Amino acid sequence: MRYVSFAIVIGMSAFSGCVKPTTQLAPVSPVAVRAEEARQREIVLIELNRAQKRLDDIAFELLAAAAGLCQEDVAPRLGIGYTTADVYGEEYEQAARSALGLSDVITITSVSSGSPAEEAGIQEGDELLAVQGSRLPLGGDGLEAATEGIRLAGLSGAVNLTIRRVGVENEVSVTPKSVCAYPAVVEIEGPINAYADGERVVFTWAMMRFANDDELKTIVGHEIAHNAMKHIDAQKKNALLGGLFGALLDVATESVTGVPTQGENTAAFMNSGAASYSQDFEREADYVGMYILARANMDLERAPDVWRQMGQISPSAIAYASSHPSNAERFVRLTQIIEEIERKRSMGVELLPEMRERD
Ligand SMILES: [Zn+2]
Repeated sequence: MRYVSFAIVIGMSAFSGCVKPTTQLAPVSPVAVRAEEARQREIVLIELNRAQKRLDDIAFELLAAAAGLCQEDVAPRLGIGYTTADVYGEEYEQAARSALGLSDVITITSVSSGSPAEEAGIQEGDELLAVQGSRLPLGGDGLEAATEGIRLAGLSGAVNLTIRRVGVENEVSVTPKSVCAYPAVVEIEGPINAYADGERVVFTWAMMRFANDDELKTIVGHEIAHNAMKHIDAQKKNALLGGLFGALLDVATESVTGVPTQGENTAAFMNSGAASYSQDFEREADYVGMYILARANMDLERAPDVWRQMGQISPSAIAYASSHPSNAERFVRLTQIIEEIERKRSMGVELLPEMRERD
């Protein structure tokens, strides 16, 4: 963005003196522009919050379904998101107060479908005053205290929350669920992309707008699988060998959007000889991801379609494989994996990925 406006400034100064607009441009009211800036910031927060809630709903179910696959990364979770106005920073704090109704008291902004918090009756907009009877500080400090308090209490059973709704305080006991502890996060900037970093699963806002729920489920399952199968640690080791970080970026860097800046990384990666590892990690994440969806009893039929969608925004990746397999191969593999899962379902066999014999 900054680069674009810089280019425009250069362009205008080069032409000033010889060419000017010929229409009569009326001055605009700076007050009206400031007001519009404030409104646009509010819209950003409202839509971002909506995207985060949608992701939380899908992710919580899948993180719970994957619990048997992510080993020591399992943690007790209630299925809530919460925040305060001050953490939005100078530019967005006012919009957070006016558009999202946030304050210095912790407010619950997201209650995932089917989560323990939803079952306990917690609602979006509830204020969180205390955990285990211990009052939380105001502002960002309170967020850390709340997260740590919930984590500690959750390790040994039910978590007692003091909730305030329309001025009335209530004690609510929530029994957490063991889920893979990979928070699902919407990232505001960036092209259509999703990636796993070993600790979180991250989706750009562009991806949230691009993907429908079925497609999003497939991608969330895939990213959880990367973390559960410890691909990031393995990639880092491979990256040390190949001296390459670019391959950690998932899904969209080259195989979805064909972002040209990724070309160098991809080329270096291919040369490093580690590309086959990366492609196999992608195949494995697709494979394990389908099992995660199946374990959540999700309908798998539409899942492969995500690769036809991706093919439309990056036709070069239909047949081209770099650090990721081609979109066509990924579609065909997903349909095969679904057949494997359906066979197991019809035989009443537990839905677990087939593991290789250790050498
Ligand atoms: Zn991947």
